[in-house]
Amino acid sequence: MRSLLLRSGLVAGRRQDVALRDGRIHRIAPDLDPAGYDEIVDVPDRLVLPGFVESHIHPDKAFVADRTEGLRAGGPSAQTLVAELKKAFTVDDIYRRARRVLELAVRHGCTTMRAHVEVDAHVGLRGVEALRRLQQDLAGVLDLQLIAFAQEGIFNDAVTRDLLREALRAGLEVLGGCPYMDRDQRAHIDWFFDTAEALGVRLDFHADTADDPSLLTCDHIAERTIAGGLQDRVTVGHLCMLDALEPDARRRVVDRLREARIHVIALPATELHVKGRADRQRTWRGVTRIGELRAAGVNVAVSTNNVVNPFTPYGHPDLLRQALVAAMAAHLGNLDQMAWLLELVTTGPARAIGLTDHGLAEGGRADLVVLDAPDPATAITEQAEKLFVIKAGRVVARNTRTSELALDG
Ligand SMILES: [Zn+2]
Repeated sequence: MRSLLLRSGLVAGRRQDVALRDGRIHRIAPDLDPAGYDEIVDVPDRLVLPGFVESHIHPDKAFVADRTEGLRAGGPSAQTLVAELKKAFTVDDIYRRARRVLELAVRHGCTTMRAHVEVDAHVGLRGVEALRRLQQDLAGVLDLQLIAFAQEGIFNDAVTRDLLREALRAGLEVLGGCPYMDRDQRAHIDWFFDTAEALGVRLDFHADTADDPSLLTCDHIAERTIAGGLQDRVTVGHLCMLDALEPDARRRVVDRLREARIHVIALPATELHVKGRADRQRTWRGVTRIGELRAAGVNVAVSTNNVVNPFTPYGHPDLLRQALVAAMAAHLGNLDQMAWLLELVTTGPARAIGLTDHGLAEGGRADLVVLDAPDPATAITEQAEKLFVIKAGRVVARNTRTSELALDG
């Protein structure tokens, strides 16, 4: 395996060299001896971070905004629009669009991704086949975990539950539920826990996307997590409803999520596009309470979710962009908040998807991104260039800024 020395970057605010060997971080210290490395990369006073980790994204339904209408007042939901489209998805079509998402993500600093793959009566296992191929074709550049995801619910037809089990047998690592797509949300959640417990896989839910507190489900998800001893193995995306709860109720729910060690994934770009469409006065923005969750000790991640489809027509798998969207959408723009916001696209999502060795520490994975900025707040504000993206100790993407400023004459 190759060795690489990253010289004079900023690691946790200090100027350090980072030595990478055999896919691991070998040493972090100032002024390491540069002799004997296969490659030396100088990054003077540039921010060195663990690689970005995308914990919730849908490559199989990306880049279809031009095939259907967008959201309109009184018009069909994004789910309805895409459900119709995916009947015509072929394996090659899914492969090409998903590959574009994955390559863009790598260019923008992503070194590990967990992606949803829809499994249902409309698309069958075609998404599974396409994404499994991509998992192999991009191995060494991007680690890809796959979720067998029930976007259409499980009680609306007779085939989806069997297809989900089949997808797990085909090698998908995680089982993904979507309780609000079934009339009986609790029965939906219970089927996912029973199945995950039987098959020994992790769970992910799209949950609590509405603003009616009577529909809350994450409390039941927390109960089942604790009852099944599945702490740390369950993630919940969206959780918009948290924002609509009264403060006391919200505190109780957040406490329960922490006890269950449920990881929460905020998806601000999609919420901003989809939520509050029927509101006649104030448009509810629907972003979960990122700051409160984090302050209470819940692990939080920010993720991209959708890319160029009716859910998020301007979606883009750039987690530095999602950090800026989160700062704007969730009142996280003060300097102290922006100082930790990048943890929500690096170490936070790494924990959420079960990576135990992702971070800037000796012995950790040599998965890194170097930003053209001296600190996180500047990186977010300026949307700094991702100068180098390093996967398993190898540079897999380089980016440079090309603008020129002509100040004289
Ligand atoms: Zn999603």
